[in-house]
Amino acid sequence: MRLDSIVAECREWFLDPGFAKLRALREGTPGVRMIGLFPVYTPEEVVLAAGLLPVHVYGGGTMVEIDHADSRLQSFVCSISRTTFELGLTGRLDVLDGMIFPSICDVSRNLSGLWRRNFPDRIAEFIHFPENLGSAHAVPYLRHELKRLEQVLSHVSGRAPSDEDYRSAFDLLNRHRRAVDEVYALRGEAPWNVPLAEAYAVLRAGGMMPREQHLRLLKDALAEWCSRQNRPQDRVRVILEGSFCEQPSLELLQTIEEAGCYVLNDDLLLGQRWFTAPLPLSGDPLEVLARHVLARCVPSAVHHPGPEGRGAALVEKARAVRADGVLFCMAKFCEPALYDYALLKRSVDAAGIPHLAFEFEEKMGTFESVRTQLETFVESILLFS
Ligand code: SF4
Repeated sequence: MRLDSIVAECREWFLDPGFAKLRALREGTPGVRMIGLFPVYTPEEVVLAAGLLPVHVYGGGTMVEIDHADSRLQSFVCSISRTTFELGLTGRLDVLDGMIFPSICDVSRNLSGLWRRNFPDRIAEFIHFPENLGSAHAVPYLRHELKRLEQVLSHVSGRAPSDEDYRSAFDLLNRHRRAVDEVYALRGEAPWNVPLAEAYAVLRAGGMMPREQHLRLLKDALAEWCSRQNRPQDRVRVILEGSFCEQPSLELLQTIEEAGCYVLNDDLLLGQRWFTAPLPLSGDPLEVLARHVLARCVPSAVHHPGPEGRGAALVEKARAVRADGVLFCMAKFCEPALYDYALLKRSVDAAGIPHLAFEFEEKMGTFESVRTQLETFVESILLFS
């Protein structure tokens, strides 16, 4: 398939608050069941092995008006929680058989409780990840938590996953993550051939459509990006940090590039790139997964071994792609991102890496203020380089 058709197809999957693509899939595939996963990472390996389609849910973006959610949620919480709840309250997420929320923050925890209370006929699970990653109890505890999830999901699909089901799921997601990593490697080398908003659209759909189908599209897209010969422009090289959960709009991503930046790496859609190594295909699957979640995750605001490791990882990430600067692009009211910024700022300052911080929310309609800040940042780097 040609790249413009792939991008158009992918945009249809996630730029539709009615989820017509998911509904068509459900109607056209007898017996298919779907489970919504709230970011950042929810163990989709277990969902897939149980015979269910994992659907990453990132709220309603600019596409839904908040008419009902504000009566049950405070107005001073992040947009993704409010628009996700609005999608649920307006029946748009009825296509899903349930939702799973990970223990990333208090908002996610509260949303899982609200979900359970408001949608009692569907599953609403909250998965607790260990806080103390080095504890001797962390692996058995997390394995037990994954087993509990497996039992709930088996009830929905009507079958308990075998070890072979887990191996197939691990293998498929390993191949998918490898292809996603290839996109990032390509962007790190020649970002002028892989525009951020275009790559983002293709990757975002990968959290919704059946993974084999997306893998085929991704390989076609990679072939086209590899063969492109665009001319590099005079822009600064940056990495984007802070958008690991709520997602900036495509318009904001375009604004960042138009203001003179090449984004070489980021933490967008982080759940798709959660592991730093492929999942092993031998051993007890749930123990393997538990160990991997604890020891092989990308450092982020919601999962890291300690404040020092987090800052060092960001500096290393910036240096790996020879970035001129770091853009902290954080969702408004997102406590994990804002607390993280206070720590990370110290590390990038100490490493002498220029940085700029700004906040966004889903409903943001004009980008002139951010554009001006970005252009000033770009000019200051070009001036002193
Ligand atoms: S955007 Fe931040 S505060 Fe909101 S659910 Fe995600 S991690 Fe929690």
